[in-house]
Amino acid sequence: MSFDDDKINIFKQRIAEIRQRIVRAAETAGRDPLNVHLVAVSKTISAERVRMAIAAGADILGENYVQEATQKFSDLSALSATWHFIGHLQRNKARYVVRIFDLIHSVDSTRLADELNKQAGKINKMQPILIQVNLAGEKTKSGIPPEDAETLARHISALPHLSLQGLMTMPPYFNAPEKVRPYFRQLRNLRDRIMDMSIENVSMSELSMGMTGDFEVAVAEGATLVRVGTAIFGTRE
Ligand SMILES: *Cc1c(COP(=O)(O)O)cnc(C)c1O
Repeated sequence: MSFDDDKINIFKQRIAEIRQRIVRAAETAGRDPLNVHLVAVSKTISAERVRMAIAAGADILGENYVQEATQKFSDLSALSATWHFIGHLQRNKARYVVRIFDLIHSVDSTRLADELNKQAGKINKMQPILIQVNLAGEKTKSGIPPEDAETLARHISALPHLSLQGLMTMPPYFNAPEKVRPYFRQLRNLRDRIMDMSIENVSMSELSMGMTGDFEVAVAEGATLVRVGTAIFGTRE
């Protein structure tokens, strides 16, 4: 056993434990665990360690910073993994993210949507996206107010190169996961409302919510994508 194998085994154990907790939370809530996917959040983590996590079974990576992700993606593009953009996105970076990412979780304005549509069009891509919702109106966080989500969804539905798949949120921070539950429920209710409108070209099947401290509660409330960093890679510097 090489040193690298030892490290890969540690990632395998951590990922297996998280997946078990996801399965338990889904089954307790009467949900099919196959409808919940683990996004391994690899921001600030080196390409070498991400390579080991992929070898250990992490098949979806979540990245926050365009420049960092571009470098890592080019180092690891030979590996079979799916890349999700989960960070705040500036319009002038849209042309880079459409080339790399299979799902963009953080669309929060019509102008950003328009730019992503334009850049995806240039490379003939249908770009899957989520709308990021700022449920508590926190000034430090990205995301559209919940009352504006429907208008943005209708706007996106008319853009030929974007495919809206659902909603994402970063709720306020609490050290008690139960306190976050009302926000997860609110996002699911908003998703259900928009789903009921049957907007053309809009699917709304995905709910991206839950992180290391609260992903089980998120799964109980309907999460289909949980974004977990610390529990896989350890505490970030
Ligand atoms: C960093 C980050 C996460 C992961 O947080 P952990 O607490 O380390 O699991 C999830 N979502 C977003 C948007 C993040 O920026």
